[in-house]
Amino acid sequence: MTRRTKIIATLGPAALPSGTVEAMVEAGMDVARLNFSHGDRDFHRLMAGRVREAARAAGRPVAVLQDIQGPKIRVGAFPGGSIQIREGDRVRLAHGEGDAPPGTLHIGYPRLDSDLKTGDRVILADGLIQGVVDASGGEPMLEIHKGGELSDRKGAAFPDSDLTMEAVTDQDREDLEFGRGLGVDYVAASFVRRGEDVAAAAELAGGETPVIAKVELASAYENLDSILGTAYGVMVARGDLGVQLPLETIPHVQADILRRTNAAGLVSITATEMLESMVSSLRPSRAEVTDVATAVASDTDAVMLSAETAIGDNPVSAISAMSAICREAERHRELHPPPRGVDFLESGQYFASAMAKAAAEAARNLGFKTIAAFTESGGTVELLSKYRPSAQIMAFAADQGIRRRMALFWGVTPIEFEPRPSTDLMFAAAEKYLEKEGICERGEGVVMVAGSPPNVGAYTNLIKLHMVGERLRSVPTPGSRA
Ligand code: PEP
Repeated sequence: MTRRTKIIATLGPAALPSGTVEAMVEAGMDVARLNFSHGDRDFHRLMAGRVREAARAAGRPVAVLQDIQGPKIRVGAFPGGSIQIREGDRVRLAHGEGDAPPGTLHIGYPRLDSDLKTGDRVILADGLIQGVVDASGGEPMLEIHKGGELSDRKGAAFPDSDLTMEAVTDQDREDLEFGRGLGVDYVAASFVRRGEDVAAAAELAGGETPVIAKVELASAYENLDSILGTAYGVMVARGDLGVQLPLETIPHVQADILRRTNAAGLVSITATEMLESMVSSLRPSRAEVTDVATAVASDTDAVMLSAETAIGDNPVSAISAMSAICREAERHRELHPPPRGVDFLESGQYFASAMAKAAAEAARNLGFKTIAAFTESGGTVELLSKYRPSAQIMAFAADQGIRRRMALFWGVTPIEFEPRPSTDLMFAAAEKYLEKEGICERGEGVVMVAGSPPNVGAYTNLIKLHMVGERLRSVPTPGSRA
């Protein structure tokens, strides 16, 4: 059985040496993430081109995900590059980007005076420095409770404050336009707070490109239901989320986000520090292996590598290790399958959802190893995947962009398919392919799922329990399971 959980790998300088992107695809990268918080346009263009070439050479689709920076707030610069801040210090918070006078901390957010209240926590440099706001004197002062060295442009988080930020920055607008030119398959929207923020990013992404909401703000987690109503998928972005929320809450917050995202029928991704030690080591730690396996057991669709593949010493080994851990975790999932009968997913596509649920159950009940789904938009295949069938999902699609999109779906193998004028001809062509590729044997059962009539955008309304080879005879042989 092929790996079901999909692997997203971030491309950075570590992917530059010749042959590395090809080796990453070979090792199992399903989705390449271009992180627009780093790197310039030339770099992202080069990487997108290499991914497309490597995918072509490997004969399997690999999606490109553009991760936009979003309204991340940062401190300004310091003369000499950094300052030492001590516990007990009081510093004035002021809007600015450049060098600040002594006793003042510049923050790249304009409405500090109106939006910060006394008692609000401020967390700098991923939690290294922490303080509490005192706004009693008019202008906000920060009382430092935990000190350290603060360097230029480090992140600033305000988990208790209701900041009135724009959802998408001017930089994001330009980056999204550039991404459209590259033909990216997904956009990941950073620092969204609610569903409207995701909708704003989706509109700027062109309306067609699916948008994954990164849940990395405390407010995004609070507003998860509104995000689930708008986003195509959700990423548990544990890096920033672990700054906003107490670290010890992250395991159950992750489980809760994955459960609710899956129940909404959306794609779920678990991200950040999954194999962090592999940035400099050839083997992951025991704790990291357990972390990845836990995400798989919690039914994540995909797991993501960040620094491990972007700047690490061993980007290809990190993907191989991730792949091996996922496979082993899935094997145990198969030995102990989740309880039957996932609740009906009311994703708005009621017919497709009913068909997908019936197909998954039929394959499980009959012990069929394969579901063949014919798709124009990928929508039914996404739902099929969310019902977590025990069978592999072979997804036949004519559209190359849809095949790349499906590279992210749990348990789905996208396959190029030339449209046929009738469902009978489609099924015959698919079974021929499955037999030729050694995916199915003669006499084996396959659940076929399609929309009829084909090629006109019909909703999925047809399931056929098909025996491989039956095209060659008119009636089932006695004793066959049909
Ligand atoms: C995160 O914060 O976990 C995340 C995925 O976002 P980024 O890598 O852009 O910080």
